[in-house]
Amino acid sequence: MNAVVQPKRLSNAHVREMYQLIAHGQEKSRVAVVDPFTGVAWTLGKGSEKHAAIDHQTLGAFASVLFAPDHVSENKRKQVQELCAGLGRISMIAIPMKDRDLFIGRLPNTSRALILVISHTNNIVSSDTIVRARAIRARMGAPKKGDSAAANQQTTRSYSIWKSLVQAVSSRFSKAGSTHVVSSGILSTALSFDHHVLASELFDLETGQHLDQYHHENFPKATVVDSRAASAALIDLFNGNLDVNAVLKCIGFADADVGKVQVQIGDLDFYWLRVPYFPTLSLPFDRDWALLLYKEPRANPALDWAAIDHAGLNLLRLRISLMLEGGLKTTVEPFPETQVEFQRILDELALLDHNDLTTRLQVGGFLREPKEIAGVMQRCQECIYYLPHRKWCDLPELPVPVEPNWWCRLWKV
Ligand code: SF4
Repeated sequence: MNAVVQPKRLSNAHVREMYQLIAHGQEKSRVAVVDPFTGVAWTLGKGSEKHAAIDHQTLGAFASVLFAPDHVSENKRKQVQELCAGLGRISMIAIPMKDRDLFIGRLPNTSRALILVISHTNNIVSSDTIVRARAIRARMGAPKKGDSAAANQQTTRSYSIWKSLVQAVSSRFSKAGSTHVVSSGILSTALSFDHHVLASELFDLETGQHLDQYHHENFPKATVVDSRAASAALIDLFNGNLDVNAVLKCIGFADADVGKVQVQIGDLDFYWLRVPYFPTLSLPFDRDWALLLYKEPRANPALDWAAIDHAGLNLLRLRISLMLEGGLKTTVEPFPETQVEFQRILDELALLDHNDLTTRLQVGGFLREPKEIAGVMQRCQECIYYLPHRKWCDLPELPVPVEPNWWCRLWKV
């Protein structure tokens, strides 16, 4: 296994998570921790003999293009383009978001690009990346032995949702007798059977034409606002520019929180997670990192997402710990004595922006150690909201990774 490069600036926690990722990923995986702002990268993993390791500068440029588009120089863009040209075609980009997923991909053997906006099948998906990963797994995974009939039906229905939808659209072309003829309404015919598809757009990358669009009756409007700009951004993207943010701007997702991105280039899958993704935190004392797992694809990409999410949550837990250790003042008192007082704190938490971790910790009254109240030593481990396997607080207003030895004033038994 390669040695970690430039270990001085990387914390032990990052290194540990990198090793964990290699352990949970597949043998031939590679991982990296990258600073998207400076482009500095640290890598680990043997990888496959088929593909040489990608150099640090190129990984840094890749992260900058995705997560820090305002810090991308021409030189970085060129490096990313050369990477794509060397690996082969970009076939798909998936961006899981808070309540919907965005897929941008090429239809096989055509010059067409398909955009799909798909809702999560599981409404409890919010800011918890593990829950989200499970939802993605449920939608993309094959049914398992022992699943209930209903669950089987659900997973069967949604098996490889992206691939089946691509197939559905592609087959309309072959039925029309030509891969070049597109009739308006083709997306509606191919996709309207699936109420999880909220919107879709079809472009031709060769001619730059916007061929068709579809949106579900419950989705406010078709995504593309400026079709000419969208088409230009897509052509650029698939030419290896990888400027995902430029495409998002043109399809009505300018404010999208891009924290997770999966890119398939040639026969490699790149799983990017901006750390931590809650879905997004920008804490002033530390700049965001991006965690990368790259490898040859496996049948169920949700397993790779689960591994990288797990590492991201561990790093987020560490970051919370550092905030508390660094002197973040939290409202430890008054401890709620009645349900009315308890509810009052919940109401205050519920008003917070879901990205606002700092205030959440302050209002919750977090401590990095147990607290004795009325002769009872209280800590997360004994609290009814504590999920031991995930080391997670399950109080809906307080969804954060915690340590068993921590405490907050919403402690309950
Ligand atoms: S409610 Fe507070 S004490 Fe209970 S698990 Fe959550 S953070 Fe820990």
